[in-house]
Amino acid sequence: MTITHHASEALLLDYATGALDEAWSLAVAAHASLCAECRSALGDMERLGGALLETAPPHAVDDAGFDAVLARLDSVTAEPPALPVASDREYVLPAPIRRYLGGDVGEIPWRRLGVGARQVLIPTGTPGVTTRLLRIPAGKPVPAHSHGGLELTLVFSGAYSDSTGHYGRGDFQEADPTLRHQPHAAPGEDCICLAVTDAPLAFSSPLMRLVQPLIGI
Ligand SMILES: [Zn+2]
Repeated sequence: MTITHHASEALLLDYATGALDEAWSLAVAAHASLCAECRSALGDMERLGGALLETAPPHAVDDAGFDAVLARLDSVTAEPPALPVASDREYVLPAPIRRYLGGDVGEIPWRRLGVGARQVLIPTGTPGVTTRLLRIPAGKPVPAHSHGGLELTLVFSGAYSDSTGHYGRGDFQEADPTLRHQPHAAPGEDCICLAVTDAPLAFSSPLMRLVQPLIGI
C-alpha cells in the first residue's frame, strides 16, 4: 500500500490539539491508522504540545524559550501515545471505523443509495455533519458535484480518480467548496470509502438534484 494523499498539516494539528469534532476526528484517526507518515507527524505535534506546556514560560516565548523547547524535544524519548494501527489486509476497515459499525465490511447492513451505490451512516455526535461509508461499484462514476462545505474522503478498498488525482487504500482527500469533481471508481473492485460532509453535495445534474432528497446524500 502506497499512500500518496495525506491529511493536511492544518487538519493534523487540529486533531493533535483536540480542536476537531468527533466526525472529522474519526476521518483523521482512520487515516493515521493506515498511514505511518501521518502517525509520525501527529506524534511530533503531540510531543511539541507537551513540551510547550511543560516549559510554560510566563510571557511570550522568546528565542531562549523556543530554544529550550527544541532542546526538550531533542531529549524526549517517550513514544507518542499509540494510535491503532491497521494490520494491512487483515481487515478492510481500520479499528476506529469498525468500533462505530460493530464489524468489518462483510457485516455491514448496506443500504441502496440509487445510482448503484450503497451506503451506511456512521453515527457520530457532531451536529450538522454526516459521516457515511460509501460503496461505489467498480468502474462506475459518482455523479458530478461540488460541495456546500468541507468533504473529507478516505479510501479503504478499491480506488477512485478525479481531476485531482488517483486515490487508493489509505489515501485522503479534502474537498472544499471550490472543487467540482466527478469521482470515478477504478475497475476491478468496488470502492469503499469514508465520506464526512458538513453540507449536502451540490449535484450538477438536474435529475440528481431532483432525487437527492429521496436518496439522502
Ligand atoms: Zn498520511
